[in-house]
Amino acid sequence: MATPHLPSQWQTLQTHARQVRQHAWAPYSRFSVGAALLTTTGEIITGCNVENASYGLTICAERAAVCRAIAMGLRDFSAICITLPGIPVPCGSCRQFLTEFNPEMLVLLDSLDQPAGTPPECVLLSELLPRAFSLNHNDTRPPVDPAREQAHD
Ligand SMILES: [Zn+2]
Repeated sequence: MATPHLPSQWQTLQTHARQVRQHAWAPYSRFSVGAALLTTTGEIITGCNVENASYGLTICAERAAVCRAIAMGLRDFSAICITLPGIPVPCGSCRQFLTEFNPEMLVLLDSLDQPAGTPPECVLLSELLPRAFSLNHNDTRPPVDPAREQAHD
């Protein structure tokens, strides 16, 4: 499979992901992560990981960004940049969570081991999560949004 091209806004996404990472609440793991989502209309929505004393309630930066975007009425995501120390890959839960909105989303893997301005690795979400869970195994399109369907009536 050919390597997808970085979106033209990759440096802006990297900057946002690195900045929001500084707000992470990670007192237990001390592993701060930042994420910056890009919508098809150019909006950038950020998120950071939020840990909890009951560990299991911890939410990753990627899912925090998606929840924030959804609450803002934004759902059409074309890319996400994830910044963390070491090897930057999203966890399995986040891969499934992101797939809900666009299985062909570009995922920019930004390692803090590289200085800012270094192009991150760029992969397709479908490459990170092949054969994602779906309620309809014959349909890989995102589910119909009832709110948008009504808007066209
Ligand atoms: Zn995750």
